[in-house]
Amino acid sequence: MIQYMEFDVVIIGGGLVGASLAAALKHSGLSLALVESQPEQMLSDYHPADWDSRIYAISPGSRAFLEQSGAWSLLDAGRIAAVEEMRVFGDAESELEFSAYQMGVAELACILENRALQHALWQVLQQQENLTLFQPVRCARLQFASDAASLTLDDGRTLSAKLIVGADGRDSWVRQQAGISAAPVDYQQHAVVANFSIDLPHRGIAYQWFQPDGILALLPLPGKRVSMVWSVDPEKSARLLAMSQDELCAQVTAASGHMLGNLQFVTPPASFPLRLLVLPQISAPRVALVGDAAHNMHPLAGQGVNTGFRDARQLAQILMERGAQNDCGDAQLLRRYERKRKEDIYTMQATTYGLKHLFNNEVPLLRSVRNLGLNATNRIAPLKKMLMQHALN
Ligand SMILES: Cc1cc2nc3c(=O)[nH]c(=O)nc-3n(C[C@H](O)[C@H](O)[C@H](O)COP(=O)(O)OP(=O)(O)OC[C@H]3O[C@@H](n4cnc5c(N)ncnc54)[C@H](O)[C@@H]3O)c2cc1C
Repeated sequence: MIQYMEFDVVIIGGGLVGASLAAALKHSGLSLALVESQPEQMLSDYHPADWDSRIYAISPGSRAFLEQSGAWSLLDAGRIAAVEEMRVFGDAESELEFSAYQMGVAELACILENRALQHALWQVLQQQENLTLFQPVRCARLQFASDAASLTLDDGRTLSAKLIVGADGRDSWVRQQAGISAAPVDYQQHAVVANFSIDLPHRGIAYQWFQPDGILALLPLPGKRVSMVWSVDPEKSARLLAMSQDELCAQVTAASGHMLGNLQFVTPPASFPLRLLVLPQISAPRVALVGDAAHNMHPLAGQGVNTGFRDARQLAQILMERGAQNDCGDAQLLRRYERKRKEDIYTMQATTYGLKHLFNNEVPLLRSVRNLGLNATNRIAPLKKMLMQHALN
């Protein structure tokens, strides 16, 4: 086994964001390594007969990014649902509607399953000539010198790189090694996810209810199916997970005001704890962070992985347009990446944090204001358009 190898870029973490960055750098001329701790079958094992309860609302901008890398065309079109309209309900008969027609686009987002997208991206990576995959393997040590970083794997091999990319998720080891401090804030909410079949057609509409005890979203899946993301406090999450299938279906049917008729189980529920993570910096000497390693946000706007794809898209663009700069881990390039990403990340984090707290509040004045706000936003076309434009990127 070769013990020492040199690369331009080593990406640590082959989840959706790390894999998308590697695929975007296919024609960059850079030599790449991707280090992933999970075995291949965990990431790219895809059984089309099963539905995945982890789904994403992929924005048109993310779709274009995935099309460019060749991953999108490998997806089964029959498993993708277009969101043509969004209907958001407050807790006092207020409502906000967005439609693809109003925005002049073909769709507001596409709903697709995590495993299918992961599988498509890994198919691209397996054909990629400028990429060496290290998997499954654990990282042991990361050391920095002025002109390169050196990563030692737990099997003794050492990878040298001009740039290390931390794409290793919310508890990022790379972030820790780079000395970037992280103080996550617990949202005191868990997202309970499950897929259901429905009685009435969803007509491509994504529904969301802001209620005092949580935020319920039912997103369209192909056919007469929907995917649920219900953000509730940890106690309610435990109760929902402990219920019988019939009880849970009845709860969701009632909470959604019978909008889609009776619901029946397609996949059992699972839950994810939610937190906010705002970092003082997303780069350090010889290191760039992308995806959940760089930011965590509430899933109410379906923007977590989309924001991660925008990190990957921006970093790939900066690396490919670096001109005469040979050193792809140069401090100026990293500062440029940081500057370009800051505003988008903070805007998404502030919006989702604000909305979650505005609706998760029992103060009567706030209750009136938030419902008046939803109705007013619905009537002010330019404001509505501005809000939506950001989420389409
Ligand atoms: C319930 C829920 C619903 C959501 N819905 C949406 C949505 O609709 N739209 C949206 O945009 N976002 C959504 N999100 C957010 C989205 O799930 C995340 O933003 C996204 O999965 C982050 O991807 P990532 O590649 O950055 O990290 P991860 O998916 O966490 O991938 C990290 C990878 O790194 C590997 N790794 C970790 N540590 C190491 C190490 N030391 N060495 C090597 N490899 C390592 C892991 O095995 C993993 O493969 C949702 C989140 C939740 C909880």
